[in-house]
Amino acid sequence: MYRSGIGYDAHRFAEGRPLVLGGVEIPYSEGMLAHSDGDVAIHALCDALLGAAGQGDIGRHFPDTDPEFHRVDSRILLRDVVDRLHGLGMTVVNVDLTIVAQRPKLAPHISIMKARLAADLKVSADRVNVKATTTEGMGFTGRGEGISAYAVAMLKCSE
Ligand code: MG
Repeated sequence: MYRSGIGYDAHRFAEGRPLVLGGVEIPYSEGMLAHSDGDVAIHALCDALLGAAGQGDIGRHFPDTDPEFHRVDSRILLRDVVDRLHGLGMTVVNVDLTIVAQRPKLAPHISIMKARLAADLKVSADRVNVKATTTEGMGFTGRGEGISAYAVAMLKCSE
């Protein structure tokens, strides 16, 4: 049996914060305002995985009021989600992400994002797709107020 899930997240730009997307720190003048490291791509991905597994959402498992998750590396959260899925007899078939950002240019960072996400998901890199797009200046991402991300995940269940 296969199960699919969808995830979405958005964070606002803030000065003095690192910009971490898909597990990669990207050199830029601003980063994401968040309780965690603000990795919107991984947060969307975690929600897609948890959604596919019928396990709620990232906020339920890692509350942003919990000091344990203050400035946490989101890759730790992703690996925890994958461990939970494996414990439920589910493995990742493939994931697909779209990061929506007017700036900075993300193309040079996509291949390392894929490699890091694949390592955390415990799948080969060909099962991980990461895309980046702008909104041609429209909306909050277009105005450079923040970055958003969409993800879908397909899981295979053992039963
Ligand atoms: Mg988030």
